[in-house]
Amino acid sequence: MSQNEVLAELAEKIFGEKAKKIMILLSNHVEISDDEIAKELDMDQAELRKILNDLFEARLVKYRRARDENIGWYKYYWRITDEPLEVLLNDRKRLTLTILEKLLSLEEQAEIYVCPSCGARYSVVEAEDYGYTCPNCGEVLEPYDNSKRIRKIREAIQALKNYEPIASSGS
Ligand SMILES: [Zn+2]
Repeated sequence: MSQNEVLAELAEKIFGEKAKKIMILLSNHVEISDDEIAKELDMDQAELRKILNDLFEARLVKYRRARDENIGWYKYYWRITDEPLEVLLNDRKRLTLTILEKLLSLEEQAEIYVCPSCGARYSVVEAEDYGYTCPNCGEVLEPYDNSKRIRKIREAIQALKNYEPIASSGS
């Protein structure tokens, strides 16, 4: 397996199948913008951005920010990290675990609302601020059952804990 294939597998274990698809797409490009990724994978922009942020937090991807002169906004161009796999896996295992455990405790504490139309998620404080309607599309927010997500994070933590990245050389 190439380094990129290993990273794609790791992304799938931690963040799911869509994360893997993104990683594979990235590995076939020098760099690629959010818009292009969303188009290629026929993926919702908000969901894509969430996954890209997760992958970035886990140090599996990098981005370059460039101002688009036509629209005047910044565009983000994504690529797979170029850090050596051995370093990445050994060092980031702990970091990724920390992130996942933080994520888990946030999920466990969070009272979450979700927009039934665009899927955006809001904390109870945000939901209150927005009057329980989605600021993106005006839909009434619904309470969100995050037990499935909590189970997925727990599984990812367990998988990562059981995962021995690379045996030290000579063994
Ligand atoms: Zn919405």
